[in-house]
Parts: sequence; C-alpha cells; structure tokens
Amino acid sequence: MEKLNFDTIILGGGPAGLSAAIYSSRGAASTAIVDINMFGGQPSNYLELENYPGAKLIGGFDLMEKFEQHADMFGVKKFPMQEIETIDLKNKIILTKEYEFFAKAIIIATGAQPKKLGVKGEKEFLGRGVSYCAVCDGAFYKDKIVAVVGGGNAAVEEAMYLTKFADRVYLIHRRDELRADKIVQERAFKNKKLEFIWNSTVKEIQGENLVNSIILENTKTGNFSNLKIDGIFPYIGIVPNIEKFSGQLEQDAYGFIITDETMKTSVDGVFAVGDVRKTPLRQVITAASDGAVGAVHAVKYLEEKVLI
Ligand SMILES: Cc1cc2nc3c(=O)[nH]c(=O)nc-3n(C[C@H](O)[C@H](O)[C@H](O)COP(=O)(O)OP(=O)(O)OC[C@H]3O[C@@H](n4cnc5c(N)ncnc54)[C@H](O)[C@@H]3O)c2cc1C
Repeated sequence: MEKLNFDTIILGGGPAGLSAAIYSSRGAASTAIVDINMFGGQPSNYLELENYPGAKLIGGFDLMEKFEQHADMFGVKKFPMQEIETIDLKNKIILTKEYEFFAKAIIIATGAQPKKLGVKGEKEFLGRGVSYCAVCDGAFYKDKIVAVVGGGNAAVEEAMYLTKFADRVYLIHRRDELRADKIVQERAFKNKKLEFIWNSTVKEIQGENLVNSIILENTKTGNFSNLKIDGIFPYIGIVPNIEKFSGQLEQDAYGFIITDETMKTSVDGVFAVGDVRKTPLRQVITAASDGAVGAVHAVKYLEEKVLI
C-alpha cells in the first residue's frame, strides 16, 4: 500500500471540496482531494442551475467541470473513485483500498444524500420505479404516471422537470402548502401536468416486477387510498454523508457537523464545509463559499502551528 503525505487533505470533490482545493493550493499548502466517486458532487447529476451568480443558466456538469479545471490550475492532487476504509480524524489518517494518506489538516466536504421514506417497497423497488434523481431517470417515464414526494424546492423543481416526460406528475406533500420559493411555486401551479395531493404521506410502495401503485394516508382524516403510478421520486430532505467518521466530532441531532464561522470543527485541524455541516442554506454558492473560508483557515492553522 502506497503511503502519501499532504499538508491538507480534502474529503469530497463537490462544489465545497473543489473550492477548498483551489484556496488551499493557492495558499501554498500541498493539497489532495479524495472522492469515493468522480469529482463534481451533486450538481454533476442535475440538468441546469440558474442561480449561480455570473453563470446565468449553466449545466450542472459543465459548471463542475470548470471548478475541477480551476483546481487543476493550482496543481491539486486528485484521487477519484477511492473506496474509503477508515478515517481517523484525530490523527489525520485516511485509509483507502489503495493508499494510506497522512494529513496535517483535513477538510470534510462529503455533502449529503436524499433522505429515504422508510416505507415497505422503497428498497425493494429501487431502480424499478423508485428513484432519487429525476434528471438521471426521468426519461424512462415517457408518457407514464409518476409521483414526487416533498414540498421544498428540490421536490417542486424535480416534479416540473418530470412533466417533460410523464403524462401526469403527482406532487404528494404532507402539509397543505409548499415550502418551495415563491417563484418556483408560481411556475409549478401553472403547470397543467402537475397535480397536487395535499396532506398526504406515502405508507407503502407496491408492484410486481415494477412499481404499479402506492398507498397514501391522509394526515387530516387518517383515510388510506391507493394511487396508480409507474414511478416515485422522494425528495423529502437530505442526510449528511458522515458514515466513516460519525461520532469522532461534534454533530447536531441530524448528524450534520457543527462548525464555527471559520468552518473549524470540534477536532483540532479538522474543518467541515458545504452540505455536510450545519448551515442555514445548502446551495452551490454557499458550498463554494464555505470551501473558501474553510481552506483559508486551514492554511492559517497550518501556519500558526508551524506545520508549513
Ligand atoms: C436535485 C437537486 C437540485 C439542486 N439544485 C440546485 C440549484 O439549482 N442551485 C444550487 O445552488 N444548488 C442546488 N442544489 C444543491 C447543491 O447541489 C448542493 O448544495 C451542493 O452540491 C453541495 O455541495 P457539497 O460540495 O457540499 O456536496 P456534494 O455536491 O454532495 O458533494 C459531495 C462529494 O463528496 C463525495 N463523498 C461522499 N462521501 C464521501 C466520503 N466518505 N469520502 C470521500 N468523498 C465522499 C461525493 O461523492 C461528492 O462528490 C440541488 C440539489 C439537488 C439534490
């Protein structure tokens, strides 16, 4: 197994991690970025963004390609597709199947992933009618009927995206009003293919080989009903990707890492940036901003401790 030393190792190569890589490398710290997948994070999987300042309307993949090329410009060492075995934050040792990494500072930028509904049929029909990515799987539902679960921006935007393919899209929400931004709601209410099912939760996903229906419970009346659908896309929130180091540092009740305004965590020399930390807004712009703040303070930490 190859042993590698870096001043700063960044875990996760989404917008937060790539931004941190740019600032860390530019701050003269030898910097590596390690990801369990290819780089780019969540934006690489969705179609386009229209709220990244300066970019107007840009493909998620295209924007992240620019982030990555920018990190390349400063000589960041990249380690994609790493199967992570263990992460020891206190001693700053990361073990993958191929390498043993030793760092002086670590920046955690592992992001978050969709929360599961936790109902019967969800696991069983994954990839056979259950999907968490409309952009990845939407085209399979041409002329079909699908349901999206949730009431925030992600749910409403993905539901509208699915109307490009599906005949009918039900948006199932447990309350009687959406949490999504007003501008997003206005667009959704104008969409003729979108039908709202209020005050309802999904109790079970049913089917044979593929999904063919769901059982709904009305949260007001307690009545159950059966809805015929071909696919279901839950967008009910996110959980942080902390599996490999959970419990090693201070986290909130949902597992999100607690930091101060310099992105410092409760472990000396360990910083957390982007969706994985407790933060009031999870967007590309805030992830990139966190990455910059975290990396600048990681470099400061290395200088103060005379580690570089
Ligand atoms: C459907 C959808 C639509 C969205 N639309 C928008 C939008 O229009 N505009 C906007 O600004 N934001 C949007 N967002 C939010 C935005 O994508 C996130 O806030 C942003 O990607 C967070 O960046 P991040 O770097 O913190 O995490 P991520 O983008 O999640 O990247 C995390 C990276 O860490 C890697 N990783 C995970 N675990 C490990 C591990 N143990 N070790 C190493 N690497 C690991 C992952 O493979 C990934 O590459 C959307 C999100 C979704 C889900």
